[in-house]
Amino acid sequence: MMAPYLILSDIHGNFEALQAVLENAHGRYERILCLGDLVGYGADPNQVTEWVKSNVVSIVRGNHDRACTGTDMLEYFNPSARASALWTRGELTPANSNYLEHLARGPLRVTHNGDGGFDLVHGSPLDEDEYLVGVEDVQFLVEYLETKLTFFGHTHLQGGFLLAPRSVKRIVPDRVLQLEPDYYYLINPGSVGQPRDGDPRAAYALYSPEDRTIEYRRVPYDIGKAAAKILKAELPESLAMRLFEGV
Ligand code: ZN
Repeated sequence: MMAPYLILSDIHGNFEALQAVLENAHGRYERILCLGDLVGYGADPNQVTEWVKSNVVSIVRGNHDRACTGTDMLEYFNPSARASALWTRGELTPANSNYLEHLARGPLRVTHNGDGGFDLVHGSPLDEDEYLVGVEDVQFLVEYLETKLTFFGHTHLQGGFLLAPRSVKRIVPDRVLQLEPDYYYLINPGSVGQPRDGDPRAAYALYSPEDRTIEYRRVPYDIGKAAAKILKAELPESLAMRLFEGV
């Protein structure tokens, strides 16, 4: 039996969104995978990191995980991202900071029952910091993909891409996606804690290797509570407000 996977990305310290996802997905998965950015922006970096530590079986690091542990300089961050990274550095316990600092850089191969497996990356298979937003960003990637299925995050946009030898199609995440054996897939589960695709609900995906399906899911959560915590922590107000808009 192949395990159905719960795929999480870009939780960003939003414990309310994470809890809502876990309740919504309850009983539908056996293992949890994560595509990075556990912290940054949100007000619960320690709670999220501790939960991930004890529940996620395979994980790659995100750019915010590096920034919030001091591995990176912050010169490429906008002011609110920088402010939240500095706040998070001060907030993280030494143990949690150490855990984040030592997360693996993608791509990370996940195999099962001797099959070819699939890859986890934060940004792109070639560069963990690259944003795969449009078809033009992925059309040359097919030559470099080592597995037919790659999960990525970083853009906070649920969906992804189907790559055929001569064409690339954007995947609209409005149904259960049946994976065809001839194509390559780049799948973005969307962001748990800070969606940017205009839908403020928490995003995640379920992957069943047995049925060869990806199920894109959205779930409402207590945005007011997450936003209030951000304001109480005196993080930039914009980080609270954007949660209501999903941008
Ligand atoms: Zn992110």
